Amino acid sequence: MNTTSLNLLSNADLHCHSKVSDGTLEPEALAARAKANGVELWALTDHDEVGGQQRAMDAALALGLPYLTGVEVSVSFAGQVVHIVGLGFDHRNEALVAGLRDTRGGREQRAREMSAGLAQVGIRDAYEGALKYVGNPELISRTHFARFLVEAGHCGDISEVFRRYLTEGKPGYVEHRWARLSDAMRWILEAGGQAVIAHPARYSFTPTEEYALITEFINHGGRGIEVVTGSHSDADAAKYTETALEFGLLASRGSDFHSPEESRTDLGQLKDLSGRLSPIWQLLDTRIHRPAASTQ
Ligand code: AMP
Ligand code: MN
Ligand code: MN
Ligand code: MN
Repeated sequence: MNTTSLNLLSNADLHCHSKVSDGTLEPEALAARAKANGVELWALTDHDEVGGQQRAMDAALALGLPYLTGVEVSVSFAGQVVHIVGLGFDHRNEALVAGLRDTRGGREQRAREMSAGLAQVGIRDAYEGALKYVGNPELISRTHFARFLVEAGHCGDISEVFRRYLTEGKPGYVEHRWARLSDAMRWILEAGGQAVIAHPARYSFTPTEEYALITEFINHGGRGIEVVTGSHSDADAAKYTETALEFGLLASRGSDFHSPEESRTDLGQLKDLSGRLSPIWQLLDTRIHRPAASTQ
């Protein structure tokens, strides 16, 4: 059997988005960018959708880039949205595909309600405006509204749009019920994959709520947590290094790249994981799709 040369310090980038969700590049362009940036193990993790997986895998393998299937599932937990990254599953698994379809289900209605909220503060036709940026109509997201609001001159940049219009209590924010944690975990694990808590520093949980999230995640079979990721500071990475060690979780690493114009962290341009951690990709070794030449 092929023994992998991937280790803790390998340039793994296991979190990014294509046009299939709210990124701006096609899966093939992302594969090329990952390869050019020195990524050694890559996963495309579109929100609630595996429609880009075959294209990403084919493109990666053609470039000699090892690939793990990926997805980022939106979950409602303790009144917040938590993102669970799934890696290394069979992307044709029927229960996973159906569960994700249900999770995407309410997005169009939500988008119309967001648009109505924005109209009340004088921003008209935001739904139509956001749609211009959408690659997959089932995946219309806040990011697409943000792009439209910047284009229309309402805000200078995307983070200003989120601050002023698209977060809780703001005119374009609409509460939504996403997947249950238990369901998301079951879809990923039963399709042969592993689950990872995405960007833990992004949530505003109390310590008690965070403890509940991590312990429920582990009780449902979760093994991984993102430690080094685009939206984490060095202090966040240090904090979640300790969390991973405390709970016996394996570490993941991913840029969360969405777009060359918008993302602060490019594919493959991440700090290393601490030498005290074990990487999730060692657990996923048999799930890695390897280019033909490296398996001989
Ligand atoms: P949605 O799934 O429609 O609620 O949109 C969530 C997406 O919005 C996330 O995946 C990010 O890409 C983006 N997002 C959330 N918060 C921010 C923020 N403060 N600044 C920029 N993008 C954000
Ligand atoms: Mn996103
Ligand atoms: Mn996320
Ligand atoms: Mn993401």
